[in-house]
Amino acid sequence: MAHVLLVEDDDLIRRALTLALEKLSHRVIGVGTGIDGLTHALRGGVDIIVLDLGLPDLDGMQVLKMLRASLNTPVVIATARDEESQTVAALNLGADDYVIKPFSAEHLQARMAAVLRRTQPDPLRPPLRVGGLVIDLHAHTASLDERILELRPKEFALLSYLAERAGRMVSKAELRAEVWQNAFGVTDKTVDVHLSWLRRRLGESAVSPRYLHTVRGVGVKLYAPPAA
Ligand code: CA
Repeated sequence: MAHVLLVEDDDLIRRALTLALEKLSHRVIGVGTGIDGLTHALRGGVDIIVLDLGLPDLDGMQVLKMLRASLNTPVVIATARDEESQTVAALNLGADDYVIKPFSAEHLQARMAAVLRRTQPDPLRPPLRVGGLVIDLHAHTASLDERILELRPKEFALLSYLAERAGRMVSKAELRAEVWQNAFGVTDKTVDVHLSWLRRRLGESAVSPRYLHTVRGVGVKLYAPPAA
């Protein structure tokens, strides 16, 4: 029962998926171009976006980049098998999951449900606090020492995951599984790159860490620096 924006230029696929998803009691808006997709997404009220990568006007990756510049709406990429390598780039750009064509509406539905489960937190939960770090999972905001942190969706997910487990060593394998859902092409290197971005956002470095403490070959642990 989600409000789905389906961006797919193939009329047959779009119509068939729309019907099938509606049968599964979703509300579906189907559009055939990247521009229409962006327009509808930015209008708001969309719970999840299913985005085809091969579109007639804009490249699906461009659409994703533009979406992520202003929205955190979950995105599931729909890709042809020969575009599979692009899924890595799409996940790095903030896509939440992907499906490979041809896929059934039931398969898409299962993926969407999983994405929605992990992206829609309990509104009654208080924000996470670790030292000067405050993370509001519902409002999707994070601040450090009362300064709002500008985080990309994956950085936010990574920070939230570590903050929820503050004080515990978390392995890269666990992060790949839990934050990236073991997505195709995601390696320890991907995790390292995101950790270094996150460090920069927090205003710290690997050599003089405050919150993010990495132990080579073991993992990473987030904890509050001792109060000054
Ligand atoms: Ca297409």
